[in-house]
Amino acid sequence: MKSDIIDLLIIGSGPAGYTAAIYASRAGLNPILYQGKEPGGQLTITSDVENYPGYPNGVQGPEMMIDFQKQAERFGTIIKGGFIKSVNLSKYPFEIIDDNDKNLIVNSVIISTGASAKWLGLESEKKI
Ligand SMILES: Cc1cc2nc3c(=O)[nH]c(=O)nc-3n(C[C@H](O)[C@H](O)[C@H](O)COP(=O)(O)OP(=O)(O)OC[C@H]3O[C@@H](n4cnc5c(N)ncnc54)[C@H](O)[C@@H]3O)c2cc1C
Repeated sequence: MKSDIIDLLIIGSGPAGYTAAIYASRAGLNPILYQGKEPGGQLTITSDVENYPGYPNGVQGPEMMIDFQKQAERFGTIIKGGFIKSVNLSKYPFEIIDDNDKNLIVNSVIISTGASAKWLGLESEKKI
């Protein structure tokens, strides 16, 4: 597969990934962000988010993550819908392979792949 050289690759589209993208794109670092299998991250599976500055009346998690994405795109972040299969940090520039087996040659990478919530298995946890 064809190789591209990328200045900055951001892996993950939760609050951490989009925040990195906003700062990096404003700084002219031309970031490319891979959203992964959960675009918007964990906050897309919740309803009211009440502790984020800038939303005095709270906001729905999915809506907030669309705002994050729009803000990153506004400054030129390129958003990709796929995910990253492997990262080789042992040589520079880094070699990273995406879900289409495309080989990406990357000068800098920010890994913001988040976490998974530990569920208790309660019925009420399935309600949004
Ligand atoms: C039900 C629920 C309610 C919550 N409510 C609140 C709240 O009200 N307030 C609050 O502050 N926090 C809340 N949290 C916690 C909050 O969601 C997390 O702290 C936050 O989402 C972490 O952000 P993150 O960017 O680090 O990672 P995440 O949101 O976990 O995002 C990780 C991202 O990485 C991507 N990814 C993973 N692997 C790959 C890969 N191989 N290639 C490409 N991308 C990849 C995923 O697709 C995802 O986009 C809640 C969490 C849950 C589960």
